[in-house]
Amino acid sequence: MKNPPLLSIVVPVYNEEAVLLQCYRRLAEVSSDLDAEILFVDDGSRDHSAAILDGLAQRDPRVKVLLLTRNFGHQAAVTAGLHHACGQAVVVIDADLQDPPELITEFLRRWQQGYDVVYGIRTVRSGESWFKRASAHWFYRILRRLSDVDIPLDVGDFRLLSRPVVDVINAMPEHHRFLRGMAAWTGFRQTGVPYVRQPRAAGHSKYPWRRMWRLSVDALTGFTVAPLRIGTRLALLVAVIAAIFSVWLIVQKMTHPANLVLGWTSLMVTVLWLGALQLGVIGMVGEYVGRIAEEARGRPLYVIGRTVNLEPAESIPPGRRSMPGSGR
Ligand code: UDP
Ligand code: MG
Repeated sequence: MKNPPLLSIVVPVYNEEAVLLQCYRRLAEVSSDLDAEILFVDDGSRDHSAAILDGLAQRDPRVKVLLLTRNFGHQAAVTAGLHHACGQAVVVIDADLQDPPELITEFLRRWQQGYDVVYGIRTVRSGESWFKRASAHWFYRILRRLSDVDIPLDVGDFRLLSRPVVDVINAMPEHHRFLRGMAAWTGFRQTGVPYVRQPRAAGHSKYPWRRMWRLSVDALTGFTVAPLRIGTRLALLVAVIAAIFSVWLIVQKMTHPANLVLGWTSLMVTVLWLGALQLGVIGMVGEYVGRIAEEARGRPLYVIGRTVNLEPAESIPPGRRSMPGSGR
């Protein structure tokens, strides 16, 4: 079999006929001196994208094309690309040229310095709506607060992943995928390269707010169980209020019985304590649901960075099995 290439460039494509040729040209240019493959994943496009990709693959043997039967969504398309990419390093880039392909050279340099995940940090997002920028800004900050994983801020899927990282991500069977978080989750050394996000070269965004919403829910549910713990926290709060209120009411009842309407004291005390009890039980259920969610994701329990004087056991999750620096 032919040796695997050094670099795979994975490009998800959904109805991108307007930019595909331009995209290919820029990618071919940056990778012309490299041992690289360009893997386009057509995510069920309904325009002429597939035909254009066929043409490109005929002319350039470095172009590989994977066509999905229907539109499975951006994250699924990138996942398919990661499964089929053979490179020692894999770069994921959108087809619309919002992320400059020329940055790949810098990504490769960082990778050769020993980083396993190199992502682009969007310093400026031009050509995107105020709503998209603001929601992304706040969303990433909230997610980072809630999650234990070190998910970098203002970062998209434009990134380089080393082979060990791709292997670990491929071994994560979860269905609701948030690849940015998954790459961070693997725990390998990561670094960022700042860049200015351009407006789309042509065509329009395939991420309406509905899809953005779904992606954020996937990110939150995939990387934090914090919302499920709200029940327990609220229960504690209500219990404290109930305790203070009960004492106050009882003292009032004894000192100024005439001031209080008959039955109000017992009613309030019962309602508050029942509220606390119910929230507490919901919190308990939440803890179980959180654990079920974590089990259901089926992620590896740990990832091995490297070993000394020890061969990793065969049944362990994949990760960096080879010695550091190999394959570079
Ligand atoms: N994309 C895809 N499947 C989809 C939606 C988008 O493969 O269901 C691709 C799209 O062709 C592009 C990339 O994912 O290459 C990012 O999409 P888009 O530029 O529309 O998102 P935005 O940059 O507006 O967030
Ligand atoms: Mg885009």
